[in-house]
Amino acid sequence: MQMRQQEQNLFAEIQKKISALTETQKNLSRENQILRQYISENQIQAEKFNTELQHKLADNYAAAREADYYYNIDIVGTCSVQCPSCPVGNSADAPTPKGMMSIETFEEVLDKIKIESPGARTSVELYNWGESALHPDLPKFIAAVKNRGFICGLSNNLNHVRDMRGLVKAKPDYLRVSISGFKNETYQQTHRGGDVNNVKANLHLLRATMDSYGLDVTQVEIGYLVYRHNFDEDFIAIKHLCDQLHFSFNWTFSVMMPVETAIKIAEGKIPKNVEEINDLLVINPAKWKELTLQYRDYFKECDMRPNRTVINFDKSVPLCCGTYLPENYIAQDFLKISHNDLQKKKYENDLCAKCMENMVDHMFTCVRPPEVDDYAYKELSKLGTFTGKNGR
Ligand code: SF4
Ligand code: SF4
Repeated sequence: MQMRQQEQNLFAEIQKKISALTETQKNLSRENQILRQYISENQIQAEKFNTELQHKLADNYAAAREADYYYNIDIVGTCSVQCPSCPVGNSADAPTPKGMMSIETFEEVLDKIKIESPGARTSVELYNWGESALHPDLPKFIAAVKNRGFICGLSNNLNHVRDMRGLVKAKPDYLRVSISGFKNETYQQTHRGGDVNNVKANLHLLRATMDSYGLDVTQVEIGYLVYRHNFDEDFIAIKHLCDQLHFSFNWTFSVMMPVETAIKIAEGKIPKNVEEINDLLVINPAKWKELTLQYRDYFKECDMRPNRTVINFDKSVPLCCGTYLPENYIAQDFLKISHNDLQKKKYENDLCAKCMENMVDHMFTCVRPPEVDDYAYKELSKLGTFTGKNGR
């Protein structure tokens, strides 16, 4: 018991320090800590992986993302795949509009951001629930961001890229590629409708294009989403692929999205269409709530509100990057509302109280207290993962 108390005190201390870090640093420091713990516990032959290279790449990626205000702008309001843990896959009937933003509208949005400048260092991320690589003018969008002195970030599933050369030549500061398997029999369970062979081909093409232009300026991270079915040889194979291609490897436990669905599950009301994927999560929202509610006092603020604003392709503004339903939009037109009024609307919204009561906001930070890690390790061990074989 005393050990557990010490562990909890330590976690509270760590939490204070983590609060002072940027969002990227928070995730990286915690994830790397866990990975190191796994490696030592399981006597993994770390030399099988290029650890030194990976540390350097992770630092570069974290530095590229560092900003004090973030905008997520969905220039494409839909996606090429339908992940069941994402609203694109599990809330397809919602009246959320789908479409693409024009470059003209985007320039107006950026000009307003420039005038309002809520942060000294602003990052404009061209994604929320959409796949920006489907936009025919993606290179122009990246250029528009960079021309205004903002950091430009992308996050893609990379199943289809309309203009790889244009993307590389536009030099976004960072690109995250989400993946959940090396083989299609694994990947397609959680990236439904996707083809991981396309993704791997595009990763090789990305590396070849960056090299052929001598443009190794975009920091690329492969974000492996861990479920119960894919923490085995698929995980190892993607890690090796990252070493080969000199892309940063990072992983995290997948979480249920959007906020609206996660709240229902945390309250014990699991919608029928997410039962299967909920079972595939290592830690589902109800378990997360059960294990973390005791830490609510350490997390008085939700990370999504103070320094992040989301803008849909049609200029509407959702409450945060985790909400999906139009009933939770806080403005219909970003161009017609001031930054201060948007911030005010975020803090007046009733959904936040419900989200926080259920620890859903905390789940999205992916910062895990010891109880969550203990539970996750035990669950994965039951499945025979992390046995120390094959360099895992
Ligand atoms: S999680 Fe990403 S890749 Fe999957 S459907 Fe949602 S936006 Fe698309
Ligand atoms: S409390 Fe929940 S709904 Fe509110 S901004 Fe945070 S994550 Fe979004």
